Amino acid sequence: MVFPHLVTVLVEHVVVESCVLRITASTKDGTAAVCPGCGESSKRVHSRYGRRIADAPVGARPVLIELSVRRLFCDSSGCARVTFAEQVDGLTSRYGPRTPVLQRVIGALGVVLAARAVARLGLLLGFAVSRMTVLRAVMALPEPAWTGPRVLGWTSSRPGRAAGTAPS
Ligand SMILES: [Zn+2]
Repeated sequence: MVFPHLVTVLVEHVVVESCVLRITASTKDGTAAVCPGCGESSKRVHSRYGRRIADAPVGARPVLIELSVRRLFCDSSGCARVTFAEQVDGLTSRYGPRTPVLQRVIGALGVVLAARAVARLGLLLGFAVSRMTVLRAVMALPEPAWTGPRVLGWTSSRPGRAAGTAPS
């Protein structure tokens, strides 16, 4: 499985155009999507529209996913939204121009390299981002799990005192 994040959509075409791997796909009709306003599911389609989402490069080629997604009606009486755009887990986020996979790659590179270096490296690896995009990706990373110390103590460089023992 080359593109595990595309399992839930219908892939129509995969072509290479001008050194860009272009994937044309659409979400499936008849499946329910959850309204972000109230959490209720809906299958009633209002319309479709196209999104262009950058994905992690393959073989140093940029990957562009052209995805047709649905706008659905929310029929919940208590919800302020009349319609909402569906999101695909692992593939889209609200107003997100990149897949979560590419976003994590940019964030992980940003942790170990300077933002400007990641922006330059991205051009070689097949994704174009600004240094501000790298900084936002780093800030969006989850906080690493932190566990408190198991033992409190100190080390001494003075001879005759074992490390971690209290002074008498
Ligand atoms: Zn709703």
